Amino acid sequence: MQDKSSNYVIGSLKKFDDVTQKFYQLSGGCLQSTPPSLDRCKLFTPILPLAHPIHRQTYSQWKYSMFVNTMFRRKRGRTLYLLPIGPFPDSVTATEVAGLSLWEFLRDFASAFFHGLDVRVLLPEVPLENINCTKRVHENTNQTQVLVGDLFPFLQKMCPPDGHSVVGISWTDLYPSEDLNFVLGEASFVQHSAAISFGRFEPKLYKDGQRVRECGSEGEDEKAVMLLKLVKSLCHESCHLMGLAHCVFFQCLMNESSSMEQAFQQPMFLCPVCLRKLQKICRFDIRERYLVLREMLLKCREAVESQYFADSAEWLDRCLSFLDNADEEEFRS
Ligand SMILES: [Zn+2]
Ligand SMILES: [Zn+2]
Repeated sequence: MQDKSSNYVIGSLKKFDDVTQKFYQLSGGCLQSTPPSLDRCKLFTPILPLAHPIHRQTYSQWKYSMFVNTMFRRKRGRTLYLLPIGPFPDSVTATEVAGLSLWEFLRDFASAFFHGLDVRVLLPEVPLENINCTKRVHENTNQTQVLVGDLFPFLQKMCPPDGHSVVGISWTDLYPSEDLNFVLGEASFVQHSAAISFGRFEPKLYKDGQRVRECGSEGEDEKAVMLLKLVKSLCHESCHLMGLAHCVFFQCLMNESSSMEQAFQQPMFLCPVCLRKLQKICRFDIRERYLVLREMLLKCREAVESQYFADSAEWLDRCLSFLDNADEEEFRS
């Protein structure tokens, strides 16, 4: 039987099977300063101390805001579109990941992450010069950056009638406002658009125009770092397009990050509260979704040398093992 506070955090679980209910209930007590240890498999790490209530978006709050939204806006389609904003160097055009082009790979990754939605790439790529947007040259890196909000009206116009939203993937770095240095991605829920970049020239990683630090853990090759940046920001920003706010409950893909390094430390996956919101939109079975995601991660692991992808695949294995064994004594709370 679900108590009131769990209902507020993850909504009613009545329609789900027992195992799925147990999985979502791993969010139990995330509004208490000392959460009970429901999570013996250590799948999710709560963030303490608790954030101020104003920063929390529970499932019930998200659902209400989505309901209000549907009263004033047309129903969205069920296709997420990716739009490359070039031009891209030959090295990107020629990139292959497990026999897929980079765009096909990102499409397949997003299809797995948003299992139940259709994901397509809008080709041909659009040259940045065709988009009316503000640019600047950053003093640390001497590289051009684009004001990310200026891309949204264009991306919104590019959304086909069956589209839910459009995510632009820019080769040029982005910045969010005059007073801020850099942003790896940003989304506008109202404009159904997001933009992410390859994040090649984050000013924090540069001094006097020279790169002083690398991002990603040691031993990670350039291709792995590129893929990691792209898949994480693609999934994070696309979740914003589904109305998900930043997560303050657990270590989660939807945590806010102020630098690329911080973004790298976050998990690739959603906590139970955020997952519950995404499930409502995509209507997936959580076990099926983890299985397809696992397949994608195994492909990544074959294609690039990355501890991060390996750890993420291992985490998925533990999740699947929880779902397969949730009835056994070991997993009982
Ligand atoms: Zn965000
Ligand atoms: Zn979360």
